[in-house]
Amino acid sequence: MLALTAATLFTPSERVDLPLVLVEDGRVVEVTSCASREVPAGARLADFGDAVLSPGFIDIHIHGSAGHDVMEPDSGALPAVERLLAQHGVTSYFPTTVTAPVETILAALERLATAVEAQNGDPARIGLRARPLGIHLEGPFISHTRRGVHSPELLLRPTCKIFEDFWQAARGHLRVMTIAPELPGSAEVIAAAVKRGVCVSLGHSDADFKTARAAVGAGARHATHTFNAMRPLGQREPGIIGEVLTDSRLTADIIADGIHLDPAIVKLVLQAKGVDSSVLISDAISATGMPDGQYRLGSFEVEVKHGKCLYQGKLAGSVLTLDQAVRNVMRFANWNLQQALRPATLNPARVLGIADRKGGLVAGAEADIVVLSPGGEVRKTIICGQVG
Ligand SMILES: [Zn+2]
Repeated sequence: MLALTAATLFTPSERVDLPLVLVEDGRVVEVTSCASREVPAGARLADFGDAVLSPGFIDIHIHGSAGHDVMEPDSGALPAVERLLAQHGVTSYFPTTVTAPVETILAALERLATAVEAQNGDPARIGLRARPLGIHLEGPFISHTRRGVHSPELLLRPTCKIFEDFWQAARGHLRVMTIAPELPGSAEVIAAAVKRGVCVSLGHSDADFKTARAAVGAGARHATHTFNAMRPLGQREPGIIGEVLTDSRLTADIIADGIHLDPAIVKLVLQAKGVDSSVLISDAISATGMPDGQYRLGSFEVEVKHGKCLYQGKLAGSVLTLDQAVRNVMRFANWNLQQALRPATLNPARVLGIADRKGGLVAGAEADIVVLSPGGEVRKTIICGQVG
């Protein structure tokens, strides 16, 4: 048994001072305080001093890191991405595809499904790597007008046939799908995805308010990088952003790097969605954790300079890490650490329907824990009970 102590713990909904966390067989057995329980005899004690314990971060939108793209066939790609994620406190992630020829997407989905199935192996053998829990399909069912850097000639009109092909290739591990609800055929595909238990996320969309609201009625529950690749907010036509900010049935994610959104817009979205319905994503590409230069996003060569990823003058993903996003939220929105942890831990777990085992530092959950400084710097990451 492993016993962890520190100055503070955020479950994250609750605060525990001088916490004592007992871990066995990769699971949290008990969360209590040093004042109410002795360290059990024979337990291995890890005392983290003035640190803060948080559930591990969950990134539901990430394309790559450490020089690798998650769609690469190279078998070393995902492990490299996963090691870098772990250094930044991310313990679970949802590798995210970009628009590509259908055959390429299908092949990537098959490989990613294999990686998801392998994540339950012996934790000691896998080592300190974030675990892929499912796949996020971003594109090809997105708007031409709001495609960002997705290839225009490869965008597709949504059909249940293609969706089903993706679902089969991913062997049921497709967990999130970003879709533009205004495309002909979207309503049917949203219904099919909801039936499969996929989280339908509105994004890369030029939808007006009414169309976006109808998609929520059809089962859409989340919004992808709110404000980015969306029809702008208007005072008489609120558009998709108006719907995302005002409908409590929707959770919404943002790229809080200070580049994709002005800090004031980060604050605006966080205030609108609140501590319960905001989610932080990285949208990170292969350049993350690497020096400036040329990097790959899907089939594009992206130029990375001073933290900005550009393809032909357009923003093409980020080099953001989730720990930095948490610290940015503290700065941009004046949220305290406990509040800023919510959109990186419990909220994404709820969006994905895995909050019974991930996203909370509570008894019964898997032992994915980040040890943070009081200012939110990662000091150590614990994955499935393995201390890094
Ligand atoms: Zn993306």
